[in-house]
Amino acid sequence: MNRVYRLIRDAKESSAYRGHALTRFVHAEDGNSARAHCRRCGAVAVVNPSPLPNGIDVHGEAVAVHCSAPKSVPEVARAILSDLRELGITDRSAGVELADLADAAMLWHSLLKEALET
Ligand SMILES: [Zn+2]
Repeated sequence: MNRVYRLIRDAKESSAYRGHALTRFVHAEDGNSARAHCRRCGAVAVVNPSPLPNGIDVHGEAVAVHCSAPKSVPEVARAILSDLRELGITDRSAGVELADLADAAMLWHSLLKEALET
């Protein structure tokens, strides 16, 4: 397993421990770092196999803080898309994220249903 996939595995473990449900990791155009977002709260997890000397290889809200109460799908979608746009990540990668948002909509719907039934 190469380094970036090892870091992704670590990031997935820490995020899951903190209650986040991550999307797939999208690789940046430089082929170096990769990031994923929580489907429930929009928090980001970033892995960077070759960080700057003062940098860290796994970081982001999703690996640092616990998942907050579920946000609505449009809120999460906005958070993810604005994060990707800031990085200039292409439509191709964003398409992957948008496919994940369909899953997010289903997840959010089931959480909402659960909340209303209890
Ligand atoms: Zn979360």
